[in-house]
Amino acid sequence: MPYVDCGTLYDGTDEFIEDARIVIEDGRVSAVGPIEDVPEPEDGERIDHTGAVVIPGLVDTHIHLGGSREMDPFTRIAEHDRTALKAARGTVDLNTLIQAGFTTVRDVSSDIGLGLRDAVAEGEIPGPRIYTSGKGFSQTAGHGDSHYLPYRWIESEDDPNVVDGPTECRRGTRRRIRQGVDLIKISSTGGVLSEKDEPHHSQFTAEEIRAFTQEAHRVDIPVAAHAQGAPGIKNALENGVDTIEHGIYLDEEAIELFHETDGVMVPTLAIVERICEHGEDHGIPPWGMRKAHEVREAHLESTRWAYEEGVTIAAGTDFIGPELVPHGENAMELEIYVEDVGMDPVDALHTATGAAKTTIPDDDVGTLTEGDHADIVALSDDPRDDISVVREGIEAVYKGGEPIAE
Ligand SMILES: [Zn+2]
Repeated sequence: MPYVDCGTLYDGTDEFIEDARIVIEDGRVSAVGPIEDVPEPEDGERIDHTGAVVIPGLVDTHIHLGGSREMDPFTRIAEHDRTALKAARGTVDLNTLIQAGFTTVRDVSSDIGLGLRDAVAEGEIPGPRIYTSGKGFSQTAGHGDSHYLPYRWIESEDDPNVVDGPTECRRGTRRRIRQGVDLIKISSTGGVLSEKDEPHHSQFTAEEIRAFTQEAHRVDIPVAAHAQGAPGIKNALENGVDTIEHGIYLDEEAIELFHETDGVMVPTLAIVERICEHGEDHGIPPWGMRKAHEVREAHLESTRWAYEEGVTIAAGTDFIGPELVPHGENAMELEIYVEDVGMDPVDALHTATGAAKTTIPDDDVGTLTEGDHADIVALSDDPRDDISVVREGIEAVYKGGEPIAE
């Protein structure tokens, strides 16, 4: 039975413990605590991280496993049917993610996430535990519609992601459930990277949103809504949505609703920063650049406000795979929380561990308490002194107690 001796342990829920021990049985934590309280198991194999700060495997709650390498929307459309190419790149991305300490990810819309999830679960390829929505839903002319394509191409999709009216929303959700998704993703507002809508535009009616949430909740899976403007954020929370992705423009009622509904906010500040700083060199169209600059300050302001008001915040980057937003650099989100939002480093760490598990149907990842998966990251230095160690100081990663090879 292996056990890990830690210089310092943060278990994702509470205070830091000096000189801690984690005992692992069948890939899960069977005992954890200060070394004096946790005896070494007989014939146990000791793993020495007494020089490290040990934290739970990280969770990125908002990525896209689409195997993309370009931000330019037309390149991505041209690759629409090149599933094998995308899956091969996605396989590489998964290895990069787990090397970077991300042992769980939530894929909130992609066309290959289901296959990748199952390949990882079968042990065929290395990678994080994947929770995926499959393809996310949008209304016609909504954030997930491709506004520049002939509409008949959109209509002729075998497995449409553009749906209108409660009946289509309900059937769409049931189709995803039939495919075996772990959550449902919808867009309840416009966005930055959709041509003919704006972040403040509301999308889907209350009845349509209720159709998604009723069907998903009947099978105990959550609903995530891309929601940027206050009316669309409130429409989502009022009608059963569990997580608000982006949350750019909050108002007082929205903050109240987060508290009333136990809603979780996934800000995704990293992609907005990357687009504003470097988007022009990476194929972001002019309308995307304009909107990214327009929302940036309000986005930081809303995240600060939500943090001060005690709204649950889960870390998500919206990283997609191209050089502008590459998998592997995802811990950048925590650096922005500390440096630009003013978050305490321990709270920032909590967004990618204990708080992150609130966005998925299981509760045995993101923390290292008894019974959880033994997903473990050893850091060279203390993230309380410098949060960038989460990105730059990874010494070892374990998934289910097994070391991840470089
Ligand atoms: Zn996204």
